[in-house]
Order: sequence, then structure tokens, then C-alpha cells
Amino acid sequence: MKKTVEAIRGDSEGLAYELPVYHVAGTSADAPSAYIQAALHGDELPGVVAIDALMPKLRKAEAEGRIRGRVTVVPRANPIGANQLLFGASQGRFDLGTRINYNRDFPLLERPDPSLLPAVDVPMTADKRLKAHLLKLSLGHDIVLDLHCDDEGVAYLYVPEALWPAMADCAANMGVDAVILWGGQSGSSFDEASLHPYLKMPRKEARLESRVVTTVEYRGVSDVYSDIAEADAEGLYRLLVGRGVIADTSIETKKTFEGVVAPIDHIEMVPAPCAGAILYHVKPGDTVKAGAHLATIIRAPGEDGGRVDVFAPQDGYILTRRTHRATRAGDDLVKLVGTAVSGDARSGALEA
Ligand SMILES: [Zn+2]
Repeated sequence: MKKTVEAIRGDSEGLAYELPVYHVAGTSADAPSAYIQAALHGDELPGVVAIDALMPKLRKAEAEGRIRGRVTVVPRANPIGANQLLFGASQGRFDLGTRINYNRDFPLLERPDPSLLPAVDVPMTADKRLKAHLLKLSLGHDIVLDLHCDDEGVAYLYVPEALWPAMADCAANMGVDAVILWGGQSGSSFDEASLHPYLKMPRKEARLESRVVTTVEYRGVSDVYSDIAEADAEGLYRLLVGRGVIADTSIETKKTFEGVVAPIDHIEMVPAPCAGAILYHVKPGDTVKAGAHLATIIRAPGEDGGRVDVFAPQDGYILTRRTHRATRAGDDLVKLVGTAVSGDARSGALEA
């Protein structure tokens, strides 16, 4: 395993960020290759600790000559966002300089050719330079996994509809609870940019049936525990074995996914009708009926009639809820995966 530390030049004089990258060449040029990154939103750590738990498995497999395909791992993909602190609180989602989400505005290339990306000496902001660099590192891999997390949630995947159901084995091997299928545009998120050049190709050449691109939401932002990290690492390893990147006859891989699968337009975001303190009556993983009591907002504490109840707009599955308990009017309270299209379905990405 080779380690490189790549430099991302910052936006002010004398400032540069370090991006450690781990590379395994693989023993067979024909075997599928894999790219895994975590914490593109700088402060999302469940994927980081999953990678930390995965690395000893990769080192052992490499020492035994079992890594067949090329593997590239970026445990902390966003050193810029990871270092944005405001009064002690981490701000890893949006770049403080450009105000742009780190998982939007990736370059959409016409073909998977790194020479189409801007060169490092082209004048541009550091967040743009980071995005071009990550895309360059990932281009050419058959499997691209981008590990994120939600506020509070189950483990779930965003999968491009062009790759489903061919990716059902991946969801099963990773052990996630749900899969959300998306199509069209998502604001040029990393997953969209990773798949885009292949959607432009003739279908036979693109080999979509063997391609894996997904945004992995490893539960909630505080779900950073050794046992969960170990289970997630086992899931990632099982996926790599299942897809032939690693040879390991001791691992039993799965083919069929038995969790929740729904298109993204079935998701009800359920906004808060008023500001106040949130009392949740449901948690991620719950199944609810239309009209179920999701939350109470305490709008005017101590007043008769100071509570406002929020109900499920349709039957569904609670995918996530918010970490915070102080809501503003209009803030989303939960992601509910409905059994039918949401009356309030949003196009593109669900969140800013
Ligand atoms: Zn994220």
C-alpha cells in the first residue's frame, strides 16, 4: 500500500491543505477497481472511522496477494471543510469563502478523461481545486463510494436509477437499511459527476451493469462508535469481495437486497409549521401510517394551545430526523419515505 499526501493550495498566501491518499495497485489489470472517500462534508465522521476499520483488512488482503483490482482510499476527503470552525462549532458542509456546498458544483465531464479537468495552476478557489482533484483521483474506477452521514438516520444509499437493480448486491453486502433511487440532476454532486461521463457513452462501452456509484449515508452524525465502524468496514469489505476487487473465499456475499427501496420523489421532507422546541414521536427506522403523530412543536411554552402537532402525510418509513431540537418555521423535521409520490416532491437534491 502506497501513501501519498497531496497538497491543495488554499485561498490565501502561504496556506495549503494536506490530503492523504492510500493506493493499492492490485494484481490483475482486468479486475474491477474501487475508490472510497469519506467526509466530503468535513465534519461527517462515521465513514472516516469505517475506513479506519477497513484499512487493516485491506493491508492483510494485500499481504496475502488477494487484492486483484486497484483500490484508492481517501479517508478524509475535505481538509478545507474539516478545518472550518466557527466559535468552536465545525462548519463542514458549505465553503465559508464561496458559500457553496462541498457536494455540489463538481465538474460534469463529457468523457472520463482527467485531462478535461482544470490544471492545478489555473486560478480558482480552493474548494473548486479540491473538487477537481477528488474527481481526478476517482475517475476510471469501476466502484466509487462516497461516505457521508445524515443528521439522525438509518444507514441508506442514494443510487442512480441507471444502476438499479444491478447494484442490489452492493446494498445487501453493505448491510444498509434503505436505498433511495435518483435520476436527472442533483446539483452536480460528486456521485452525479462520477457517473455523468459514462451516461454520455454508448451503453455497451459504459458497462453500467458493472459500475457502482453511490452516496452512502452512514446513519447520524453522532453515530461514531467502534462496533458500528467495524460492521460498516465488514460491509464495505463484503462489497469489494462480491464485486471481485478482493479475493476471499471465507466471505459469504449476498445478492438480494431486502430493505426499503424507493424513488426520491416518494420522500416527504415534512417541514415544521412554526418555530419552537421539537418533541419527536418517531425515530429513524419506524414505519408509520398516514396521519401518524410525527412530532409536537412547542410554539408557546406554558400557554394553553401552545403546542402544534405534525402528522404523517402518507404511509411510510422514517429515514431520518434532525439532530437539533430548536426548529424554525419551514425547517424540515423528517425524511419520510412514502409508499406513493410526495405531493411536495422536490426536484434535484433534497437539501441545500
Ligand atoms: Zn454529507
